[in-house]
Amino acid sequence: MSDELKLVFDEPKQKVKPPKHFSDLDPEARKALAEEIGLPAFRAKQIATHFFVHYNDDPETWTDIPKDLRPMVAEKFTPKLITLVRTVTADNGKTRKDLWRLHDGVLVESVLMRYTDRTTVCISSQAGCGMNCPFCATGQAGLTRNLTAGEITAQVVAAARVCASGELPGGETRLSNVVFMGMGEPMANYNAVIRSVRNITAPQPDGLGIGARSVTVSTVGLVNGIDKLRDEGIPVTLAVSLHTPDDELRDTLVPINSRWKVKEVLDAADRYSDKTGRRYSIEYALIRDINDQAWRSDLLGRLLKNRNAHVNLIPLNPTPGSKWTASRHQDEAEFVRILETYGVPVTVRDTRGREIDGACGQLAAAEIISPS
Ligand code: SAH
Repeated sequence: MSDELKLVFDEPKQKVKPPKHFSDLDPEARKALAEEIGLPAFRAKQIATHFFVHYNDDPETWTDIPKDLRPMVAEKFTPKLITLVRTVTADNGKTRKDLWRLHDGVLVESVLMRYTDRTTVCISSQAGCGMNCPFCATGQAGLTRNLTAGEITAQVVAAARVCASGELPGGETRLSNVVFMGMGEPMANYNAVIRSVRNITAPQPDGLGIGARSVTVSTVGLVNGIDKLRDEGIPVTLAVSLHTPDDELRDTLVPINSRWKVKEVLDAADRYSDKTGRRYSIEYALIRDINDQAWRSDLLGRLLKNRNAHVNLIPLNPTPGSKWTASRHQDEAEFVRILETYGVPVTVRDTRGREIDGACGQLAAAEIISPS
């Protein structure tokens, strides 16, 4: 492995491993774990039903499990992995950012967004991020550690519980979409991410039963990860954070571009699309006078016109210490117009959560200690 790749994949040594949770395991291994601790295998399904159907992770309340077994089930199957530290809301409560503390004190964030036709949770796959994109707040502090599948899944189950409880304005609803667009680079924590994708998409009770098409995995473009994902046979939506069509600028905006160039990344996305039949998204944060020039839109249009891609433009969200800002309206409009002349589908993403630092690239998971 090259030094550069070591930087991407070697996470800092962890002192204490997170407790093992049954959602770290596939359904067969869950049964084996039950048997290992002297329970009949069918208990594994009961436990999964409480967790993935009722979003209940407290075995003390599970009346179909004998009372004397509950403490052991709690310890071996559903140890508490994430604890809510703080919730901040916006849009009259339709957007909420949750700050979670993990067993070792590490902090991560997730963002839940209710729209008229869907409710989406944006989850973190790593604490911090090793990709070091200069316009993203998460990248600035570097990578703290990978999350386990249990820790990733727990964010989704918590969101599903909030939706089902009716506490969001508009009343009870179903969590319909999951996007791996919070903190971290999903492809740099591949195994845990794929286990959690399976937990999200497997039919109940083995998983949450959310359709693969409603799950989006976003990557800076780790080609080996995209190829592996293609071979999993789960047609999740792939999003690629491209941010510019030329290698020269992309080497700076997305430093891993020094390893996998624009063309290699797009070719991998094409292979993904060929295999899954799915259109992929190109994420493009529009940064004033940096990557928003007409010639770049033209080049992007030429690159994408024969590809099964959709462009999602993201007005740059402010991050601490960054000198960059969002594009002017007329430049954004011109960028869109040029792409459309190539027949490339393009949308401009809303800036949900911006005022609570919960929008794209703003998650930093800092705990604010208010003076009392
Ligand atoms: N590491 C993955 C997952 C994070 S997704 C990835 O990069 O794809 C978060 C998305 O928000 C990415 O497309 C990222 O490039 C984008 N982003 C980061 N900082 C941003 C900012 N300040 N404004 C707008 N988008 C930003």
